[in-house]
Amino acid sequence: MDIGFVGLGSMGSGMARRLVGAGHRVKVWNRSPGPAEALAKEGAEPVSRPEAAFGGEAVVSMLANDAAVREVVLGQGLPAARPGLLHLSMSTITVKLCQEMEAAHARAGVLLVGAPVLGRPDVAAAGQLNILAAGEEAAVEKAAPLLAAMGRKTWRIGPRPHQASLVKLAVNFSLAAAIEAMSEAFALVEAHGLDPHIAHELMSGTLFAAPAYQGYGRTIADRAFEPAGFKLPLGLKDVRSAMEAGEAVGAPMPFASVMRDNFLDAIAHGDSEKDWSAVSQVARRRAGLV
Ligand code: NAP
Repeated sequence: MDIGFVGLGSMGSGMARRLVGAGHRVKVWNRSPGPAEALAKEGAEPVSRPEAAFGGEAVVSMLANDAAVREVVLGQGLPAARPGLLHLSMSTITVKLCQEMEAAHARAGVLLVGAPVLGRPDVAAAGQLNILAAGEEAAVEKAAPLLAAMGRKTWRIGPRPHQASLVKLAVNFSLAAAIEAMSEAFALVEAHGLDPHIAHELMSGTLFAAPAYQGYGRTIADRAFEPAGFKLPLGLKDVRSAMEAGEAVGAPMPFASVMRDNFLDAIAHGDSEKDWSAVSQVARRRAGLV
């Protein structure tokens, strides 16, 4: 397919590389030019404006947050798109923005599939993402070869693109809660003079034998927060977005409120460039361990 890809950050670069590797002709755009130049060496075609990435059969966007999607997709790409284009919106954005996008895409005659992902940058580079897809049946079908190049499995969520955003935010809220639970548990153990690795090995080998506890638990116990796979401000964004979605339907999320403040605390202490699991330092600080 002739496609475009906008947003070549930690996740987008690996995903675009997979599409090039699968034989698609990919026009790539990124705000800072370095990542597009790197992909040019592998056969992608860098373009100087996002509009140029919206001229093919399909376009994928993998941008940081609502502000970036608003600017690049709603402000630049979509107004230049031809009717019939397929847009896979893979960034983790708010339900509210995704609903706004549904209306804007319908007006432009562009098919929208909400397709946020589970998996970190190494998983994206290996084409092993779990992709949450929501949209009209025909649009998701048309997207299937692109999704297959980027993911190990496509989970069909529902007929409206914002439903994928909603479920993705629910998952990330749960992940943040697991990080917070381990952070407090490990700080408790450490404050009593024990090595938190002992608690991590026991938990992740028995009652909590799941990837979230195994992977993030090790990162927290090792305090290995750099290089960041998922930067802390992105975690704050997702928790806030989940709270906004909760507020819209009167569903309180008291844990999310606590985590929002913990992320703010971590950012205020200079941890913005670190992995979101560095929020565990907040619990350590409170326990007098930092
Ligand atoms: P990232 O490394 O910070 O990359 C963000 C991308 O957005 C970059 O291409 C950046 O361009 C671009 N961008 C930011 N603000 C912009 C603006 N105002 N205008 C234009 N472009 C802008 O983030 P990431 O880790 O790839 O995450 C991308 C999305 O995937 C996020 O929604 C995130 O929540 C989601 N996600 C991430 C992970 C993960 O583990 N990292 C996992 C699942 C989902 P520059 O290069 O010029 O800064």
